[in-house]
Amino acid sequence: MDTKIIRIDEQHIDMALIEEAGEVIKAGGLVAFPTETVYGLGGDALNPLSSEKIYKAKGRPSDNPLIVHIADMECLEKIVREIPDSAYQLAEKFWPGPLTMILYKADIVPCETTGGLDTVAVRMPVHRVARELIRAAGGYVAAPSANRSGRPSPTVARYVTEDMDGRIDMIIDGGDVEIGLESTIVDLTSRQPTVLRPGYITRKMLNQVLSGVEEDVTLMRDDSGQAPKAPGMKYRHYAPKGELTVVSGESGRVIEYINARLYEQKQQNKKTGVIGTDGSVGKYHADVCKSVGNREDEAGIARELYRVLREFDDEEAEVIYAEAFDTAGIGQAIMNRLLKAAGYKVVYV
Ligand code: AMP
Ligand code: MG
Repeated sequence: MDTKIIRIDEQHIDMALIEEAGEVIKAGGLVAFPTETVYGLGGDALNPLSSEKIYKAKGRPSDNPLIVHIADMECLEKIVREIPDSAYQLAEKFWPGPLTMILYKADIVPCETTGGLDTVAVRMPVHRVARELIRAAGGYVAAPSANRSGRPSPTVARYVTEDMDGRIDMIIDGGDVEIGLESTIVDLTSRQPTVLRPGYITRKMLNQVLSGVEEDVTLMRDDSGQAPKAPGMKYRHYAPKGELTVVSGESGRVIEYINARLYEQKQQNKKTGVIGTDGSVGKYHADVCKSVGNREDEAGIARELYRVLREFDDEEAEVIYAEAFDTAGIGQAIMNRLLKAAGYKVVYV
């Protein structure tokens, strides 16, 4: 299949191109598009064949449900059985934006889209290209991240092309994304609202709107006895080609520990890598040292993390050490993705 790549600037949207892309989705095709979180791989959420195509293009297990993207609040009524007050309250504050809510699905949403579940994940993105595309596509776009399963989510169109060229109908290049990590997922079907995946919207922010927001116990640790409530969280989302270890502790001790390990690995002729930050990256003796940004700027680190992880795969580093991050604010989402990439291998020094 030939993949058509078009460019649409969020500030000057070419509506003729949006219409063209919308028609592709309406006809059962797939279009990758920018959102504020990461690039999405969009198909018609109400067409089971489109969802099947998405799983195939990504190489993703089909019991891992898709998030349905909408652009207008009226659309929510059509795809969920009922809208609880909590959903209206969260929508009022955080939509459009990087928040996904889990609600009971209406019959119109095919099981293929929800991975067989009785619930559906819904998000209203703020990115203007995404919103216009959703409307042009009929209002309901199922869109997981636009990467091949097992790779980091794409934060620039170039990475979408790397993974999806020849596998989907169209890619909309809308430049760099703003946030760089996937949306926060909150389950509104459980007894208490529960965060299933941390993101830019933190539990603290959610608690300012609803009270008693809980967190899924599997977020920050590998608890094999517990089934995560978001089916996707059980999959090792992304694992770098090299063996990744996260090292947590006071900065001086972390640097000392990592350098000692690097020395041992080099004795064994291993190609080594370090994921550090601006203030520390010059102090490591690895073959490849990369900074994810300034520790004071967590949003910047969130934006860079997936790019840096992809670069380590290109470098073919065999053993990689990463500094840990604070689990307050968006740091929790950063640490959650890093721990998953490391298969929860973390050393406290
Ligand atoms: P992605 O599309 O790559 O951002 O991943 C979507 C995430 O949302 C996966 O971790 C899914 O397991 C989760 N998800 C989607 N729908 C549901 C649902 N109905 N209930 C729980 N988690 C869901
Ligand atoms: Mg994904």
